[in-house]
Amino acid sequence: MRKVPMYGVCVRALRFDRARGFAAAIALLAAALGMLQIKAHAEDEQQILISNVRVFDGENTHLVDADVLVQGNMIVAFGSDLEVDSGAQRIDGGGRVLSPGFVDAHTHMSLIAPFDQLENEYTGIYVGAAAGQVAEEMLMRGFTTVRDAGGASIGVQRAIDDGWFAGPRVFSSGAFLTQTSGHLDMRDRTNPHHHMGGEHSHAQRIGHFTAVDGEAEMLGAARQNFRNGATQLKLATNGGISANYSPLDIDQFTDAELGAAAHVAETFGSYFMVHAYYDEAVSRAIDFGARSIEHGHLMTEDVIKKMAKNDVYLVVEALMSNADAPPQFTADQREKFELAKSGFQEMIRLAKKHKLKIAFGSDVFLSREAYKLQAMEWLARAEIFSAPEIMLQATSIGAELIELSGPRNRYREGRLGVIQPGAYADLVLIDGEPLEDVSVLADPGKNLRLIMKDGVVYKNTL
Ligand SMILES: [Zn+2]
Repeated sequence: MRKVPMYGVCVRALRFDRARGFAAAIALLAAALGMLQIKAHAEDEQQILISNVRVFDGENTHLVDADVLVQGNMIVAFGSDLEVDSGAQRIDGGGRVLSPGFVDAHTHMSLIAPFDQLENEYTGIYVGAAAGQVAEEMLMRGFTTVRDAGGASIGVQRAIDDGWFAGPRVFSSGAFLTQTSGHLDMRDRTNPHHHMGGEHSHAQRIGHFTAVDGEAEMLGAARQNFRNGATQLKLATNGGISANYSPLDIDQFTDAELGAAAHVAETFGSYFMVHAYYDEAVSRAIDFGARSIEHGHLMTEDVIKKMAKNDVYLVVEALMSNADAPPQFTADQREKFELAKSGFQEMIRLAKKHKLKIAFGSDVFLSREAYKLQAMEWLARAEIFSAPEIMLQATSIGAELIELSGPRNRYREGRLGVIQPGAYADLVLIDGEPLEDVSVLADPGKNLRLIMKDGVVYKNTL
């Protein structure tokens, strides 16, 4: 009697192995065919040799004299005396610094106006048209990759990748996930809740945010974001400065709601980021597995230690945190802005003390003029970080963070934010010494002499 179940187990194991073996053989064959295709494809493609440059590779803060060989959309070799096709295009960098294209880990490409205007003034097609311009200008500031931290930007990513207009690689969070009366509940004061006869807001319908209350609504909204093409989720667990009806200090979402978002992010192989200012909101988010905290100005040392212990990234937006309040802000928004700002310097000191991984974020939005301030983020950061720290934040560290989106990342063929063989050919060539003084990057029109994304040269003023 004993042997029967054992035999049964063996047969099942054998079947399992055979099935697995067969699947593995098919996968190997497919991979081999794929590799042949990639190789054949790559060999057809034009090579570009960038020589006479000093390379900042995104991971080490010293410069290396090396040539960089690009083929198709990838960096294929790095070093001296590289073997190069006779027909290769050659670019002499004139001894300048070559850096990986920059990563802005906190943008809002589609939030082109204050929330009340997004609700009342701008149709989806207007927002899309404007965001196309925002995208192109970001690329021309050297940002070859951005993580969009909420808003209707999935269509922007698709349109860029489909070739309609130039722009960075976009890791879109899709619609913000907010509770009713949360940071991103953009409805007008006169619009009742949709369970009380109100209508879903225009901004919600075009994909800027989804208001969710309860576990089931969170599951649905989070899954819908991934269905639409989001690479990660964005939630708010505190109120926000730019919100009209959300106090900064309130804790947002129940444990069941946070757990539902975490579950969906995990099942999609990705993660969620959280907009938060206070200890409790950050701490709860970490308990549910959040991988990046946006803002965090009013955190105390215990929670910063908890971030370090759990390997949670901090995305610092220095310009929006430490400058004067934007003129468009109301008196209430201004008050919240000043409150958050009051904690910023101390939070940064503690974040440095506990060696948090800090990524570069500009958080520019609100108006055409405000987007132009993206390059001013370099100057604002220079007041709190060293130039090498900032360069790492804006390249490999930001890339590491956005690559936590795992299988949802559309750009998995190579690494981002570094210069090495097998990385994407996303590069900028700089006039000046950015590892000593990042202020040269605040004038990209003048000081970025070459901008390449995905092997395509978008700017060359050499
Ligand atoms: Zn933001």
